[in-house]
Amino acid sequence: MTASTQAKSLSIPKTMKAWVLDDPEQLRLTEKPVPEPGPAEVLVRIDAVSICGTDVEIITKGLPAIVRGGPPFNKNFTPGHEYMGTIVKLGAGVDEYKIGDRVAVEIHAGCGRCERCRMGMYTSCLNYGQNYGDHQKGHRANGFTTDGGFAQYAVNHINTLAHVPADMSDEEATLIVTAGTAMYALDVTAGLVAGQSVVVMGPGPIGLMTVAVAKALGAGEVILTGTRDNRLEMGLKLGADHVINVTKEDAVAKVREYTQGGAHYVIECSGAPNAVNDAANMLRRGGRICLAAFPGEPVPIDVANLVRNNIYLFGIRGEGRSGTHRAASLMAQKRFNAKLIHTHTFPLEEVPTAVRYARERIDDAIKVVVKMN
Ligand SMILES: [Zn+2]
Ligand SMILES: [Zn+2]
Repeated sequence: MTASTQAKSLSIPKTMKAWVLDDPEQLRLTEKPVPEPGPAEVLVRIDAVSICGTDVEIITKGLPAIVRGGPPFNKNFTPGHEYMGTIVKLGAGVDEYKIGDRVAVEIHAGCGRCERCRMGMYTSCLNYGQNYGDHQKGHRANGFTTDGGFAQYAVNHINTLAHVPADMSDEEATLIVTAGTAMYALDVTAGLVAGQSVVVMGPGPIGLMTVAVAKALGAGEVILTGTRDNRLEMGLKLGADHVINVTKEDAVAKVREYTQGGAHYVIECSGAPNAVNDAANMLRRGGRICLAAFPGEPVPIDVANLVRNNIYLFGIRGEGRSGTHRAASLMAQKRFNAKLIHTHTFPLEEVPTAVRYARERIDDAIKVVVKMN
């Protein structure tokens, strides 16, 4: 190591605590070597990581994580992808960030050279490899194909980082990527959403952040639909103009009433089997649906209804087009209070408990955060 690279690093241990996935549902706390950042990468000391529904999927079923061409089990793989931390070491050539900078991360580092990456669609990188995760070409998705955030350190490409302001808590910063996903959904589907009506189906973390981001971007009527009153109440706190409990009210009729004949956009974050049909009926003609969630099984869709009414169907995957940077900016400006959806905090040693709280929604858990140091 030369003197100049030494000056760019802090004292970093050789090994770190990390959770790894053995058999399904079996997380184990172990020691791993602290990874080395390569060119255009940094080493992040992870300060906090939030549990996502997809982490639960990975821990129980494996997919959508694929590690070295197969299921992520018994491969010393560390899950976790919604983390933030502090930069402690810079790889070769990095001058975009400094040691000590606080950052939130995006999940996907695309290859940067394929058609989709060049369009800002790096979450749909074409060089994801035969088996998802072509590391030779630079593609990585931390917590999916490469080690993630249930550990004390992780390596991140600089393209996956967003600055965290000094007055934002670690817990709130873990929600930047969630808000970034909401931003990407609105960007792709609605563009200049100011003054237009948006229905958000499903008050999970992404749905709730979509309400907040839509309002921050100047949307007109924002209507949140769901089945749980406590979540809908949170939507009101985040700026929803109306909420509809679909178990008690006719959501399609209520939306058409609130929007004088139909909404401009529906952002579908519920994965409910009839969501696309309901969404189409909530829209005015020429309206647009964004699919940000999906049902577990194939579902029938009334395509003729979509065609007759010129309904556009969009989909998003993750947090493309630097949505996280714009979300981080809105949050830094305190345009909405993302902290409302953070409900529980656990220490590093209790990752399995944190996962259980998130999965079983114990004590009305929404976003469960683990503090790593
Ligand atoms: Zn996630
Ligand atoms: Zn690519």
